[in-house]
Amino acid sequence: MTASRTAAPIETATTNEHYPHLFEPLDLGFTTLKNRLVMGSMHTGLEDRFYNYGKLAAYFEERAKGGVAMMITGGISPNREGWLLPAGGTMNTKADVINHQRVTRAVHKHDSKLIMQILHSGRYGYHPFVLSSSPIKSPISPFKPRKMSIKNIEQTVKDYARSAKLAKQAGYDGVEIMGSEGYLLNQFLSRHVNKRKDIYGGDIEGRMKFAVDVVKAVRAAAGEDFIILFRLSVIDLVKDGNVMDEVITVAKALEEAGVTIMNTGIGWHEARVPTIVTSVPRAAFVDFTAEIKKHINIPMMAANRINMPETAEEIVANGQADMIQMARPFLADAHWVNKAKNGQTDRINTCIACNQACLDHTFENKRSTCLVNPQACYETELVYKKAKKPKKVAVIGGGVAGMSAAHVAALRGHEVTLFEAKDVLGGQFNYAKVIPGKEEFFETIRYYINELEHLGVDVKLNTKVDKDMLEKAKFHHVIVATGVVPRSLAGKLEGADLPQVMSYAELLSGEKSVGNTVAVIGAGGIGFDVSEYLTANHGKSLDEIGPDGLKDPSYRPEPQSISEWREEWGVTNEVDYQSEGGLVKPEAIKPIRQVYLMQRSKGRLGSGLNKTSGWVHRAHIKSHGVIQVAGVQYDKITNEGIWVTNGQGQSQLLRVDSVVVCAGQESVVELMPNVGDAPDAQYHLIGGAKLAAELDAKRAIRDGAEVAVQI
Ligand code: NAP
Ligand code: SF4
Repeated sequence: MTASRTAAPIETATTNEHYPHLFEPLDLGFTTLKNRLVMGSMHTGLEDRFYNYGKLAAYFEERAKGGVAMMITGGISPNREGWLLPAGGTMNTKADVINHQRVTRAVHKHDSKLIMQILHSGRYGYHPFVLSSSPIKSPISPFKPRKMSIKNIEQTVKDYARSAKLAKQAGYDGVEIMGSEGYLLNQFLSRHVNKRKDIYGGDIEGRMKFAVDVVKAVRAAAGEDFIILFRLSVIDLVKDGNVMDEVITVAKALEEAGVTIMNTGIGWHEARVPTIVTSVPRAAFVDFTAEIKKHINIPMMAANRINMPETAEEIVANGQADMIQMARPFLADAHWVNKAKNGQTDRINTCIACNQACLDHTFENKRSTCLVNPQACYETELVYKKAKKPKKVAVIGGGVAGMSAAHVAALRGHEVTLFEAKDVLGGQFNYAKVIPGKEEFFETIRYYINELEHLGVDVKLNTKVDKDMLEKAKFHHVIVATGVVPRSLAGKLEGADLPQVMSYAELLSGEKSVGNTVAVIGAGGIGFDVSEYLTANHGKSLDEIGPDGLKDPSYRPEPQSISEWREEWGVTNEVDYQSEGGLVKPEAIKPIRQVYLMQRSKGRLGSGLNKTSGWVHRAHIKSHGVIQVAGVQYDKITNEGIWVTNGQGQSQLLRVDSVVVCAGQESVVELMPNVGDAPDAQYHLIGGAKLAAELDAKRAIRDGAEVAVQI
């Protein structure tokens, strides 16, 4: 097996002029990968039911068409004990082989390779049959595992081998053995769970025996002409996790046992360090991958928070990894690879690492999709077919709902005019993008602006539409995406009209500024964002960015540096880490302001935030010294501060310089006619204009696409 380990790709007539390292083929000896880009494993929810395999095939086929060299399926358990959820996807029988063949055949039509991931969940399983190295319950499953006997372990090794053999029969090009993120093999590899004293426990030689036995058995069962990937936990990020020397020992033993490509896993699911949310800087962990690569001879794949071609190219060019695995970026854009290959980086629909429609759905047991691409996992259902008869379509409002509607309508061949009252597109995303750690939101605005231009949408900025104008223009369809305005407390709370009181929109657009002590009214997603914005001492302030910077779609703020981010979260900056699991004591943070974050309801603040990212926001405001106040009644705002009645019925003055109101939004619907009032055009109401409560970008973008496929 050979892999390019040189920094400069060999120049050939086919060398890619944009990203030469990413598009250099990789020769594995018995087969060749056409480029260095791999779609990592994601549980979509389609793999668990045989009747969804047609949809699963369409999902993979779309990405194969998009040019990716290799893809890895969601986790398939080798046996019942290894299920993540009851009755999860399996590869145990002839019937399984037939179902999976639908998927492998679809992918192979497009010169892409498909790898089946074998994942045994161990103690992360959500069912009563769970097993692990030691009987220690995980914090993320209610079921206490049984300790595996030696017989159980030996049988499980055979189950892996049988699954791999069946995977080969089903047409897969290889398997990935999931050995990271805290799943079963990782539970054996690390002292965090493995307290055994037998041959599968003790020092690293014993703890890695199970994983090594699995690889040997899979290689023996599947033969030499079969790709075996191993997803190795290069940094556990949990107490008693492995140190770097141990990780290297495991990597070498796995190479020896027959692994073809080593993949990177970062952190256990139970780790209290974020590893993939949007506030993690891009490529934050790549140097741990690079360290392993120095010690093995097989290709090494980098992963985690890599979402754009420049980052990926730099990693391969620097020799830090041979290949790049991205998962969510392929949900966001199935054609990411071909766009990069053709130098159309600006047209990539970038994954903003929000988790809202992918990982959060998985945890809610719902089918995954993507906030910025509602077609993901709905390839056979949300189809952007060419319109039989192009129509004249007006979209009113250039927030994400309106841009999504205009985009899909134009893709379908309609003649689209998009009206926006402000001088920029993006709507509420323009507020989100200035929150430190949400820099990726700039990318979505950039994507839509470029797509609308490319598709010839007539974008009219600074244009406030009225009903007369709409009637005169004779549109066939009018899509009202006028969005929301922040809920004002003027007239409802004494003093809410004082100059030091402002909406989050006034703060985040740079219209108003705050003093050193601030009260934030409302602890929803935006109250949290604003508290993070006001206390973070990294990221650019609006003064630094300037109003023009905010409007320029090519502008990107500097994200937090990787080393600062690691210090804040207690991750070692020493790559040859001696600390177990790569954890060190977090640096104490000096917030730049004192902030009070308040809500009227009782209970924990932020309990309504999203499952997979909410804990990061809660931890963030805690470490930034935000004082959290629940169960208050707001009495009045004066020049001294804000008077509240606390949960015990006592009146209190919080002495603050400024008050920021984050009390939700109200829909703007004035352009929506009453039924029967607009006979010449069909009107459609979408996004925040349709429903301000529970407004979120996921619904807004999907609303836009769904209305546009119906016209
Ligand atoms: P929200 O989640 O509905 O929160 C509004 C907050 O304002 C609540 O805490 C509510 O709490 C308070 N409130 C409502 N009416 C009030 C009134 N009349 N007076 C005083 N307080 C009042 O809305 P949001 O924070 O504006 O977020 C909007 C949407 O954006 C969310 O649904 C979310 O989907 C999305 N978002 C999410 C994130 C994230 O996950 N990080 C970030 C930004 C936005 P009490 O009634 O208890 O006081
Ligand atoms: Fe990325 Fe968010 Fe889409 Fe998931 S939902 S793929 S995190 S943009």
